[in-house]
Parts: sequence; structure tokens; C-alpha cells
Amino acid sequence: MTFFENTLKLIERAAEIVKLDKNVLNVLSKPQRIVEVNFPVKLDNGSIEIFTGYRVQHSDAAGPFKGGIRYHQDVSMDEVKALASLMTMKCAVVELPLGGAKGGITFDPSKYSKNELERITRAFVIMIEPLIGPDKDVPAPDVNTDEHVMAWIADEFSKLHEESVKGVVTGKPVMYGGSKGRFDATSRGGTFILHEVLGDGGRKPQDTTVAIQGYGNVGGNIANLLAAEGFKVVAVSDSHGGLYCPHGLDALATMECKVKEGSVTECGGSQYQPSQGDSCREVSNEELLELDCDVLILAALENQITADNADKIKSKLILEMANGPITAEADEILAKKNITIIPDILANAGGVTVSYFEMVQNKQDYYWEADEIEEKLKKIMVNAWKKVKATSEKYSTSYRLAAFIVALERLKEILILRGTV
Ligand code: NAD
Repeated sequence: MTFFENTLKLIERAAEIVKLDKNVLNVLSKPQRIVEVNFPVKLDNGSIEIFTGYRVQHSDAAGPFKGGIRYHQDVSMDEVKALASLMTMKCAVVELPLGGAKGGITFDPSKYSKNELERITRAFVIMIEPLIGPDKDVPAPDVNTDEHVMAWIADEFSKLHEESVKGVVTGKPVMYGGSKGRFDATSRGGTFILHEVLGDGGRKPQDTTVAIQGYGNVGGNIANLLAAEGFKVVAVSDSHGGLYCPHGLDALATMECKVKEGSVTECGGSQYQPSQGDSCREVSNEELLELDCDVLILAALENQITADNADKIKSKLILEMANGPITAEADEILAKKNITIIPDILANAGGVTVSYFEMVQNKQDYYWEADEIEEKLKKIMVNAWKKVKATSEKYSTSYRLAAFIVALERLKEILILRGTV
């Protein structure tokens, strides 16, 4: 089953529970617009390479399309379609006046210079320019794209329009129309939800061990935030492998080391604490997922827990910070093992929420303080959690299906109000 088929299956399961009107399901089962672009870029050595990119606009029922842009060698139309539909659901769970979209370019950015990345980005903007705009479709960062890439997008789009249009993307640098708190918003939103979930069980941070797959924007920031709150982060990983420190690792030092050395696997030496009588060891990505810890945080890519490894998962709580990290088959296996999953469309919605704040600030050209943003974000995330929890209790279903139900019911109302169905 492909990632998009998997996503549709989840939507259909949720729709079945609430006996959703067939027309609503049909409208939301297909993206409104899918675009593939192919464009040449001159590389530093003078050669020309053709790049393939995508923008999928899944639904603008609730407002302008919204969703990140990914640079990765595995980007495909199917992946972008799945991610775009998850964006529609995510925005609905946190009640944002936004629709869902996603984009990407199929290439490995680590193999290109910074100048080449800038030329590739600008060429992509020229190709998708008719589709995007502050009231049409607003991209944001995702895997391997960051605030620099967002600044190039805003700059190129502004040049094409011969006026300043910073609001065409979110996740920009704070000095150039970005929002305070956006860089770690996805992770911070996840911590708010985690506190609610653990609080319900009376568990305290200092008694909680955490393993994190993926140590980029989302994984690195959530490690820092949780470590600062007293959680024991025992293992982290990136695309090269993982590091396991049973006594707990220094999240900030690990991030500084990863930036310098290129991978967390190189950062064990700096973590050695003789007083703890323990040292760190390298683990594979597979081993990290199977560690016996209290919370497993998935913050890398989709399809990480599948029917092949679901049976070996020992953690009792999984926080999905990545999009689609657990397949539908694995979901069923984990449910039978009584493993609680906090689903992506709720857990990682903090990013798009602060992106929405950035859109609002760009329109006003007036910028808010970090504490104001954090307070507003917390309110939205906690409200969404309460709704999902109540829905899960009402229908005796998982948090994942409950989150989809919350989203579908809101989208149904909007589609009825707009006269679409
Ligand atoms: P990123 O590029 O900053 O980091 C990705 C990390 O995952 C890197 O450390 C990379 O080495 C690691 N990785 C890749 N393959 C791996 C593997 N097989 N095993 C272990 N680690 C692996 O990307 P990001 O922005 O942190 O996004 C991570 C996930 O979170 C994605 O699924 C993304 O869609 C989702 N997400 C991101 C945001 C955001 O604001 N950036 C918002 C919502 C959801």
C-alpha cells in the first residue's frame, strides 16, 4: 500500500465510524490540483541538470492551501499527495482557517552547493509562481528546507511580482518577516500535547525516558525542550544511525556536535559521564525504535514502523512528530499491544499553527512577542487535544481515528456552509 493509499484508508475508517456523508468523503479523497514541474538548473561545474518538483493542493475548503516543501531523493507524487491530504486534516484538527497542500523536489540536497540550492529553489519558484500567494497557497519548511530556503522563495516571488510579498511563505527568518517561535513551534506544540497525555497518567518528566528518531528541526528541538524540562532523553538518531546513552544525554551538546561532525553517531564521546558509571553506544535506526523506553518520538520520515517491526516496539507511548511514520497495518499491531499513539495530525500541528500566526503578522506587518506566541500556541494545542480525547472516548476509538473524526466533522460543516455538498 502506498503512503497516499494508507492515508486514504485512515480517512475512510474514520468516516465509517461517524457514517460521514459519502459526498464529503468523495470531495476529500482526491486532491483538488496536482502539478508536476520539470526545470533545468545550471550547476557550479557548468553542466545542466533537469529537476522534478511537485505541488499538490489537496483542499482549500477551510482557507488558502498551506503546507511545506520537502527536498529529498525519495520525494514522489504519491508522497506529496499523502502529505497534502494530511495537511488538510491537521489544519482542521487545530481549527485553523487554512487548507492543505504540500510540495517537494526529488533530489538529495546534501550533494549540492549552497549556490546550487539557491538556484534550484529560485527556478522552482518560477515554475510554481502561478499557484502560490499569500491568499492562495503558502508553502513552509519541511525535510531539508529551512528559513534560508524560505527567504529565497519570498525574495524570488517578490521580484516576480515587483513588490514585497513576504507572506507568500512562512518559516522565514525573523529579520525578514518571520515569526518569533516558528523555528521550534512544531516541537513545542508536541511537548504541550505530551504533557497533557503524561499528566493524565500522573507521570513526571524526571521519571520518563525518551528515545527520538530524527535529529533535525523537529527531533533536535523537541530533544532540547524535553531535556530542559527534566525528561531523560536516552537515545537519538539521524539518517546515519543512532546513539544510545542509558544515563541520559545532553541534547544541546549533541546538536552542536551533530552540526560539527555531521551525525549524532559521532557524539558519544562527549556524553561520557564517569559518575553515572555508564557510557554511550552506537545503535542502528532499527535498534533505536525497539529500545525499552517510556516515550518513543518519531521525528524523521514516513513508514518507519511497519508490519515488519511493529511487534518489536517496546515503548508504551509513541508521539508522531513526523508525518505518517506508522503504516495502517502497523497501527493495528501496536493497538493490540496496547501502545498509545499520539497521531501526527495532532502532535505536529504546532508548526502550521505558528505558520498561521506568521501569516497573520505578515498581513498586519506587526510582530508579536515570543511569550504571546507560546501562550496562543499552547491554548490551541491543548484545546485540540481535549477535543480528540473526548472524541476518542465517545466513539471508543484510537486517538488517530478520533483526530481524523474531529477533522472530518469540521470539514463537513464547512463544505455544507459553502454549498459544496
Ligand atoms: P529535517 O530535515 O530538519 O530533519 C529530518 C531528520 O531525520 C534528520 O536528522 C535526518 O538525518 C533524519 N532522518 C532521515 N531519515 C532517517 C532515518 N531513516 N532514520 C533516522 N533518522 C532519519 O526535517 P524536519 O523538519 O525535522 O521534519 C521531520 C519530520 O517532521 C517530517 O516528517 C516532516 O514532514 C515533519 N514535520 C515537520 C514540520 C516542521 O515545521 N519542520 C512540521 C510538521 C511536521
